[in-house]
Amino acid sequence: RQERFRELRAVEPVTKDGTRVDLMMNAGLLVDLPQIEDSGAGGIGLFRTELQFMISSTMPKADDQERFYTNVLRQSGDKPVTFRTLDIGGDKVVPYFRGAEEENPALGWRAIRLSLDRPGLLRTQFRALLRAAAGRELRLMIPMVTEVREIREARELLNREVRHLSRFGHDLPRKLRFGAMLEVPSLLWQLDELMATVDFVSVGSNDLFQFTFAVDRGNARVADRFDNLGRPFLRVLRQIVEASNRHDTPVTLCGEMAAKPLGAMALIGLGFRSISMSPAGIGPVKSMLLALDAGQLRTEMAKALEESGPDTRPMRELLTEFAEN
Ligand code: PEP
Ligand code: MG
Repeated sequence: RQERFRELRAVEPVTKDGTRVDLMMNAGLLVDLPQIEDSGAGGIGLFRTELQFMISSTMPKADDQERFYTNVLRQSGDKPVTFRTLDIGGDKVVPYFRGAEEENPALGWRAIRLSLDRPGLLRTQFRALLRAAAGRELRLMIPMVTEVREIREARELLNREVRHLSRFGHDLPRKLRFGAMLEVPSLLWQLDELMATVDFVSVGSNDLFQFTFAVDRGNARVADRFDNLGRPFLRVLRQIVEASNRHDTPVTLCGEMAAKPLGAMALIGLGFRSISMSPAGIGPVKSMLLALDAGQLRTEMAKALEESGPDTRPMRELLTEFAEN
């Protein structure tokens, strides 16, 4: 099977009925980069920049960050890379950077919250990324956004760095795309404002599921208790795709559910045209995609998602049946 997946590397990711779906990979360290070629990914849809900070014994300096991002971009060749700014806190521990002890770190001082309170950290990272991407496209996204205001504040910090670099005659990225991760449910009630504010949205389904269902993603006892292919979560995702279509703002999803053929199939049926996953998922997902009738799936899912009541068949069951046929 591995052999077969390798043969698919150069095959275009297009469904049987002609829908193109970009299959991107998640990464975070230089050792991940050869996987772009090995997996046949279209690029890196989520680059977790906090990993460089997590494996370092001291805070990486501006120069170290710039060198690292330059390396990532060089090794990615012409393929796009979406860098996520520091997502520390919660399950992502950076030993030399500790706030006060928190009772609920997942709900605590983390990611963009921490970055806006310590803007020097974010500005240094922005500057390193801007310099590393001089002359090419730079895609950036902000983790754990809770209110649209946070995106605007982060964007303002980025604009300051852009102005600073251009004042001192540095080359800038040819193009800048600025996005938000959608992983906190409060954003579901700000979808129109969100879509109008950013260049793209990336759903972090691991956290969005955790916070929507109030289940700790790292706690085996509860993590699988509720189904991310059940109607409630699929309806949440459908609402996001609809808002993205209304505003013509591209949406992608970069959680673990994209790495499973059945999960990826459901996402395509909801209208996602770009997903990002761990590299090992790309072969199996592409193999599923090539055999998929996306139009038919979309129609069947739209109908099944309207159903309710005690006798309705679970979506996972319907999706499995569709996959088998
Ligand atoms: C997510 O939350 O789904 C996500 C992609 O980010 P991480 O797993 O790094 O929190
Ligand atoms: Mg997350």
